[in-house]
Amino acid sequence: MKNKTGKAITVLIMCIVLCTCAYTLSGCGDDFDYDYPYGNGNVKICAEHTGFGTCSVCGIDYYDALTGYIKNNGEYIDGNYVLGTKVENVILLIIYDYSDNGVTIGNTTANSDAEASTLLIMDNVSTSYLWGLTLKTGYSEYKMAGYLTASSFTDNTAMLSPSSSTFPSSVSTDAKKLAAISMRMNVIGLSTILELSETNVTVADFGFISF
Ligand SMILES: [Zn+2]
Repeated sequence: MKNKTGKAITVLIMCIVLCTCAYTLSGCGDDFDYDYPYGNGNVKICAEHTGFGTCSVCGIDYYDALTGYIKNNGEYIDGNYVLGTKVENVILLIIYDYSDNGVTIGNTTANSDAEASTLLIMDNVSTSYLWGLTLKTGYSEYKMAGYLTASSFTDNTAMLSPSSSTFPSSVSTDAKKLAAISMRMNVIGLSTILELSETNVTVADFGFISF
């Protein structure tokens, strides 16, 4: 972690661990004047946050924590801030659309026959999120999309249920299974980015409590 002048802070990590929501980090001194998303001055941060969307104790806005990290660390390309990360050899792109304040997490897998892209789309903390799967094979392109309920989405979710689909019914079950598997990658990617943000915001704060 660095302070706002870019100086690396080591002792203050300890401070985050030791200080709880009930206290300001009075022992930390001025060095811990972290710019974003906490604002200036005395900093309070919970080891675990409480409340929906915004922490009722330290006041951190979970979505702002996510978008703030992407904005501060992503590459700016045509109005978007873009980050890349890798989960189990799958490359993920995390895109923050600054004007729409939307975040898209996506991954693409391909073999010689087909290319599948799966997107998780967020515009705030919610109980369900929009997802989409696109499969390109030869000259054909199939799509399905729907909302997934974050609290019931786990490692063991076998398939996602789309609200719309152009897949032929013969491969529909396989597509729903593929959607669940690759959406798991996207949630792991979300988890990775949140971890890097050093805000103690987790995927559970985004509703993925069983993940
Ligand atoms: Zn908190």
